[in-house]
Amino acid sequence: MSDAVVIGAGPNGLVAANLLADAGWEVHVLEAEPDPGGAVRSAELTLPGYVHDRFSAFYPLGVASPHLRALRLDQHGLRWRRSPLAVAHPAGDGSTAVLSLDEAETAASLEAFAPGDGAAWHRFMEHFDRVGFPFIRALLAPFPPVRAGAALVRALGGPGLLDFARFGMLPVRRFAEEEFKGAGAARLLAGNALHADVAPETPGSALFGWVLLGLGQRLGWPVPEGGSGELTAALVRRLEARGGRVTCGARVGRVIVRGGRAVGVCTADGREVDARRAVLADTGAPQLYLDLLPREHVPDRVLGGLRRFQYDNATVKVDWALDGPIPWTSPETRRAGTVHIAEDMDRLTLETANLAAGLIPEHPFLIVGQYAPVDPTRAPAGGETAWGYTHVPQEVRGDAGPDGLRGDWADRAEVERFADRMEAQIEPLAPGFRASIKARHVTSPRDLEAHNANLVGGSVNGGTAQIHQQLVFRPTPGLGRPETPIRGLFLASASAHPGGGVHGACGANAARAALAWQRARRVSVAVAGGAVARGAYRGWVGR
Ligand SMILES: Cc1cc2nc3c(=O)[nH]c(=O)nc-3n(C[C@H](O)[C@H](O)[C@H](O)COP(=O)(O)OP(=O)(O)OC[C@H]3O[C@@H](n4cnc5c(N)ncnc54)[C@H](O)[C@@H]3O)c2cc1C
Repeated sequence: MSDAVVIGAGPNGLVAANLLADAGWEVHVLEAEPDPGGAVRSAELTLPGYVHDRFSAFYPLGVASPHLRALRLDQHGLRWRRSPLAVAHPAGDGSTAVLSLDEAETAASLEAFAPGDGAAWHRFMEHFDRVGFPFIRALLAPFPPVRAGAALVRALGGPGLLDFARFGMLPVRRFAEEEFKGAGAARLLAGNALHADVAPETPGSALFGWVLLGLGQRLGWPVPEGGSGELTAALVRRLEARGGRVTCGARVGRVIVRGGRAVGVCTADGREVDARRAVLADTGAPQLYLDLLPREHVPDRVLGGLRRFQYDNATVKVDWALDGPIPWTSPETRRAGTVHIAEDMDRLTLETANLAAGLIPEHPFLIVGQYAPVDPTRAPAGGETAWGYTHVPQEVRGDAGPDGLRGDWADRAEVERFADRMEAQIEPLAPGFRASIKARHVTSPRDLEAHNANLVGGSVNGGTAQIHQQLVFRPTPGLGRPETPIRGLFLASASAHPGGGVHGACGANAARAALAWQRARRVSVAVAGGAVARGAYRGWVGR
């Protein structure tokens, strides 16, 4: 019997398992898929020698996360690689805004759009340097972040607190207007903010852009050498070196609850796996409460909250094997690991409005990754491995584009037609791109969920990142911590605070909660045992 069973070997599950193993626990991770990693896996999806990241690809949050850093994965084979430009955002008029690892180059890029924006960029970074890392530490700590929160308050200073509270609510469009004059900064800010499921007008969206840009400036947007699966491989190696086990192809069908406490799990094929101390679920919150737990153990309040649980947008991803680097017209764009494609802030507003209205975007906003500038091990010599993804509505009501797509992602012809539309966004900025494609692999929202049950309907972040489902509201109001109403059961996935992204914080917070619960249990058993012993002694003496 293990001390803990972890359901799911995504990055959060594996970080949790590592921390429990560090504390001397015997840990068994059960993973439904044939390979560990969840949304952090790579494979040769197209042609031999072309290594594709099946889901996530670049990890600024990972290198910034104190939880992942503390695991020292470099000692377990992980090597980070960085491109000279983290992001480029080219447009049809030939202009390109860039986020370079060299702050002066970023500033010069923005200055070219509007005099004064270079200096504004340096001011942006001064603010980030003072507040950004304390903010990220507070965000990734369990809620409420007492110590990390105090450090953030100290970094902000008294009057800074109110300003920061206001900034935290700003839509990215307004923030760009307040701090910059040119379209370049607006493009960079909005493109980064829209890694979360927000619109440029969504309150709080400026914060997403600020974090990703600040991290990109200071740490780059690193990728694991050899593929995202190498990050997972390092997590698994570290765990196994501490006696932990990962069993793949083992889908958990039920959490076993006895006496109000989680005591193990039952796999879908009927095997029982006991847990002496705790069960940690790296599954979506709705799956945990609605599918894995017997109904009688889920309080009505939780069920009520889950009825309002909101997934983030669905996703379509295309992986390409190319016969050479993408022929971008803009030379800067060739040096970037990641490329954002949307004409400008207004286009992002229009397409997010389409998503909100249930319409498939006409000019989908693409996030594109390419490896020639960052990790040439991903493709045979001279070739290039690249990907692009975009969002579509969870519930499609129509097509804002000309193809009359119905959003029936079971229909491969529809999926391929939408992939053509995505490629058509790239071609004008890189004439000859389509001709350079040797093979492509298209992943629809259904495919995403088929390869990882947490990616419901093709959502990527375990639930919306908008403010109404963050902090104390994540996954539902009142469940803002990893503890669940069932003793010994902890939610460890991106459905928990602080949400999506490969930072391992949800797993680390769940592991620490499990360890704290065990400590408290031992103390209460000792106190109760002491009371019994004292009673027995008194009884004996009295005789
Ligand atoms: C297309 C895409 C692109 C992304 N890009 C980035 C990026 O570039 N950078 C970034 O930081 N983040 C990115 N993300 C988000 C990031 O990958 C996720 O937020 C992160 O992987 C969440 O980790 P997790 O451990 O909570 O869940 P997951 O990674 O989803 O792992 C959950 C695991 O649990 C398993 N599981 C579920 N149910 C069961 C069950 N009943 N029994 C056994 N096993 C089960 C699943 O099979 C899966 O392996 C991306 C996500 C997607 C989908």
